[in-house]
Amino acid sequence: MFNSPWQSPWFVRLVAVTRGVLRVMPAWERRFIGFLTRTQNRRVHRYLSSRPARTVLLIMPRCVSRRGCCPGAGHDLAASIECRTCPLGDISRLCAAYGVRALVAYRSHIAYELARSEKPDLIIATACHDRLVKAMRSVPEVPALLAPLASMEKMCVNADIDLPWLEAQLQAVTRNGPAATTDPALTDTIGAP
Ligand code: SF4
Repeated sequence: MFNSPWQSPWFVRLVAVTRGVLRVMPAWERRFIGFLTRTQNRRVHRYLSSRPARTVLLIMPRCVSRRGCCPGAGHDLAASIECRTCPLGDISRLCAAYGVRALVAYRSHIAYELARSEKPDLIIATACHDRLVKAMRSVPEVPALLAPLASMEKMCVNADIDLPWLEAQLQAVTRNGPAATTDPALTDTIGAP
């Protein structure tokens, strides 16, 4: 079982109070969230070192899609594999290469419902700083590797993700190479590159 301090209501409260204090200094609040995220990622990698993930759920926010592209909630990224104008296409091709199912979650509560119903061994997610905290707080029982969005045109618009980071995580967790995902419920929907 994955153990995380986020399973303790006291820890969650402590983080909320600390963020409340730091809110007047946004750069420090972001640094604090960055520290929480890096600590979480180290914890997850330690956990996975003795039990590699077989099913991985990758969750992307809607802000990584581009104008004119409106994937619905739970949109399967395999459908974006031909897209060359939007990061979703790059993510789709990476996921196909590593045998990982990726979903776009319009609203974070939908992402968490999916995580609970799919019960993946691992979540890989990227989002803005605030949503990263929400992710650690909302499904603390599922190991989740997290990274902040690389950049954003404006709030919730045209965000970019750190593709090298994403590929490094996929490589690390699917050590057996492409198609390491063995759960038929997940592999059924994955398109070949
Ligand atoms: S900027 Fe944050 S809140 Fe807005 S869509 Fe992206 S992840 Fe969600």
